[in-house]
Amino acid sequence: MKVVLQNLTKRFPNRNKKGDDVIAVNDFNFEIPDGKLIGLLGPSGCGKSTTLNLICGLETPSSGKILFGDDDVTRLPPENRGVGLVFQNYALYPHLTVLDNILFPLQNLRGTEKLTKQQMQEKALTAARLVQIDQLLERKPSELSGGQQQRVAIARALVKMPRVLLLDEPLSNLDARLRLQTREEIRRIQQETGITTIFVTHDQDEAMSISDMIVVMKDGVVQQIGQPQDVYDSPVNLFVATFLGTPPINVLDGRVQGGRLYIGDAAVLAVPGVGDQKVSVGIRPEAFTLDEKGPFEVSLSRVEVMGRDTSVVSTHPASRNPFIRAIIPARNKVDRTAKTVRFSLMGEKVFLFDANTDARIYFDAE
Ligand code: ADP
Ligand code: MG
Repeated sequence: MKVVLQNLTKRFPNRNKKGDDVIAVNDFNFEIPDGKLIGLLGPSGCGKSTTLNLICGLETPSSGKILFGDDDVTRLPPENRGVGLVFQNYALYPHLTVLDNILFPLQNLRGTEKLTKQQMQEKALTAARLVQIDQLLERKPSELSGGQQQRVAIARALVKMPRVLLLDEPLSNLDARLRLQTREEIRRIQQETGITTIFVTHDQDEAMSISDMIVVMKDGVVQQIGQPQDVYDSPVNLFVATFLGTPPINVLDGRVQGGRLYIGDAAVLAVPGVGDQKVSVGIRPEAFTLDEKGPFEVSLSRVEVMGRDTSVVSTHPASRNPFIRAIIPARNKVDRTAKTVRFSLMGEKVFLFDANTDARIYFDAE
C-alpha cells in the first residue's frame, strides 16, 4: 500500500504553557512507495513518533493529509486504518499467553470481518511462524527474553495483515547483539510479507542497514529523503552529513580561494567552480590517503588497529572536534613514532557547506 503524506503538520501547545507552540512535524511531504521499508531517522525530539502517530491515527494533524493508496485516511480512527503498530516497550498483556496475545486483535472483529475460532488460530499461527516463535505459544511474556517478547509484539501487529506496519524504535530495549539480529529479522519479515513499513530509529546504522529509503528529520523538518547510500554519499547539508556515518564525518573550518580549498594555510583540494568564501568542510574518515607529499598535514595522536582497517587519530587547529579520524586499509603502515602525518584527500568524500546556512556547496570532484 502506497502511503502519501501531504503538507503534514502537527503543532502542540508548549508543555510549559507560556512558550510558543511546538511544531513537532512541519510540512512533511512524501510518497512512500508500496512494499518498501522506510527508515525514519533523526535525533530524539525531531518528530519521528509524532509522524508515526499521525499515520496510525493516534494523533490528528493540525493541517495536511494522509492517504493510503487513494483513500484519504486523515480523519479515520486508528482501528479503521489497517495499521499494525510496534513500540519500544513491547506492551504485551502480561497475564495472557503468547498465543492469546497474538489472537487478541482478532477477537474484537465484528460484522463481515468476524472470524471463526479456527480461522483465528490459523492466522495467529501464521504470524507466529513468520516471526519464529511458534514453539513458545503457551508461555507468558515474563517467561520470554526481550527479543522474544518483541517478536510476539511484531506477530500481534501482523496478525490482521495490516496495510501498513509502523515500528517505533522497536529495538531500543534489546542488547547490542539481539538488536543486530532482530533488525535482520524485521527486514526478512518485511520482504516476505511485502507490507509497506515505516521503521523509526535514532540509530543511523540501524536505519541505513535495512531500509530501502531513509528520511532524515531535524526539528520537525525533513532534511533529506533517499536511498541510504545516496544520502551518505551526497548529504544536502551539514546536519545530514554529521548524522550519518560511523565513525562520524570530520568537520573543519576552511576557506575557498581561487578554486582551491584551504585548511589553515594549506591548499588541500581543488574545488572548481566554488566562489571565494569561508566554508565548513566535512571529510569522511575514508577520504584520507597516506601520502608523504600530500597537502594535508595533521599532528599524529595515536593509531588504533581495528583488524581490517587502521584508524589514524590526529589533531589539527581547524578541526571542530578534538580529534580527526582517518580510516585507512590495515596494509598501509603508519609510522607510529612520527609527530605528523600527511594525507591527500579524495574529492568525492569531501563536502563543503555554507559557513552560515550549513547548506551544501557542490563542486565537481576531480
Ligand atoms: P521523537 O519521536 O523524534 O523523539 P516526538 O515526535 O516524540 O519526537 O516529539 C517531537 C516534538 O514534539 C518534541 O519537541 C516533543 O517534546 C513534542 N511533543 C510530542 N508530543 C507532545 C505532546 N503531546 N504535547 C506537547 N509536545 C509534544
Ligand atoms: Mg519517539
